[in-house]
Amino acid sequence: MSAIAHLLSRLRADLDPAAIITDPALIAPHLEEWRGRGMGSTPFMLAPSTTAEVSRIMRLCSESGVPITPQGGNTGLVGGQIPQGEVLLSLRRMQAVRGIDITAAAITVDAGAILTNVHSAALAAGRRFPLSLASEGSATIGGLISTNAGGVHVLRFGMMRDLVLGIEAVLPDGSVLNGLRALRKDNTGYDLKQLFIGAEGSLGVVTAATLRLFPIPVGHAVAMAALETPEQALALLQRAGDETGALAAFEIMNRHGVELAAALPGVRTPFTAPWLALMEFESAHEAALLSDVEALLAGAIDSGVCGDATIAQSKQAAREFWSLRELMSAGHRAVRVPQVSHDTSTPVSAVPAFLRAADAAVERLAPGARTVAFGHAGDGNIHYTAMAPTADYPFPAEQISRAVHDIAASLGGSISAEHGIGVFRRGELARFKDPVALATMKAVKTALDPHGLMNPRVLFA
Ligand SMILES: Cc1cc2nc3c(=O)[nH]c(=O)nc-3n(C[C@H](O)[C@H](O)[C@H](O)COP(=O)(O)OP(=O)(O)OC[C@H]3O[C@@H](n4cnc5c(N)ncnc54)[C@H](O)[C@@H]3O)c2cc1C
Repeated sequence: MSAIAHLLSRLRADLDPAAIITDPALIAPHLEEWRGRGMGSTPFMLAPSTTAEVSRIMRLCSESGVPITPQGGNTGLVGGQIPQGEVLLSLRRMQAVRGIDITAAAITVDAGAILTNVHSAALAAGRRFPLSLASEGSATIGGLISTNAGGVHVLRFGMMRDLVLGIEAVLPDGSVLNGLRALRKDNTGYDLKQLFIGAEGSLGVVTAATLRLFPIPVGHAVAMAALETPEQALALLQRAGDETGALAAFEIMNRHGVELAAALPGVRTPFTAPWLALMEFESAHEAALLSDVEALLAGAIDSGVCGDATIAQSKQAAREFWSLRELMSAGHRAVRVPQVSHDTSTPVSAVPAFLRAADAAVERLAPGARTVAFGHAGDGNIHYTAMAPTADYPFPAEQISRAVHDIAASLGGSISAEHGIGVFRRGELARFKDPVALATMKAVKTALDPHGLMNPRVLFA
């Protein structure tokens, strides 16, 4: 009997039958990469409903020497959630809200809880969980933790790493690390939860988390500004923060990206300009916020920082501004030409230099190529895509990627700001990570997962 068949028979003896899925039609959607970058494969899928079941699975897989790939909502953008022969462990049946503590400003949820459901649970308790990103209708807390997700509110609330108070995780040998606490202060040695944040499933399975909650803002405003250059965007960013004290998001979009997104049904843009800035403001006082934002925009126009600007006059208008931004990826992906995307960050002050140098490199390597640049300029994270001019253009995607990453690194930046390394960026991690840091990461991996069974294809080339 093969190791896989033996494992399956032991799992069948030990687990609720609902936790074992062998029907290829039910498994297929879990093997499909979100951006169509190939199908994965797995002998079967496991969908436990409790931490105890995850623990039994991990112990049995470990005893059989069979590798595992954990999966949440399958929205990851670097391929880490798609198994290539490993057993697929889906957290989709673990979605419970375990508890809310208003005084401690904390919510505890299962790792398979979908982000929008966590938003709703927090709102129902009169609080807010601020992580927000376009995949929030599918992405799970376990996946968001494992990729240390960012999104549009990093400027004000930080990344997932800043929003997690405690973690429950099952280690490769099946032991359960119970760190589900809502403590703000705990100096008792290594902060082990941080190991699992951004680990991409390489150290164990996150089964639950305690997350920080915040008050619901009363004042809320969304504005859009038309800009000539990225330098103007930085000037506006600084003024918006200084003059309102309420800036929660600052996103930029270049004209080509806006044109492609606005070509999608139901998407509109208020301006045609080389760059647009989308700003979101939040505060505890509605009236003061609106007058502050109006004064900010009037001053920015008067002093030439932006050409024109408008404040959304209704919730519907605010949603329309945001949908333009959220559909930037969909807009350029709809164009059937070879393209290559990046998720770089630089110090915020270096964003204009990054964009200039990247555009020059793309033009040198692929004359006539177009670029889409958009993203979280407020924290220095630009999503930068180069697109071939035609479908049959001999597009040097790998050379472009190397050049874009070299430019980000030369400016003190990172080749992966928020999506992670996964499988797609392993080679580049080996090229850019400090050798001592990489060796330390490998030592941690070996200590926790000595047989290399946890998501063995991510991070390390
Ligand atoms: C339209 C769109 C917009 C996006 N926008 C953003 C954005 O603005 N900012 C951003 O940061 N990301 C963004 N992403 C990326 C993506 O949503 C995040 O990577 C998300 O955190 C993944 O969550 P998931 O539940 O889908 O995880 P999956 O895709 O299922 O898994 C991601 C990784 O985490 C591991 N993993 C999943 N669950 C667990 C677990 N319980 N324990 C251990 N390991 C686990 C997987 O093995 C894999 O390596 C976007 C994606 C899409 C499709």
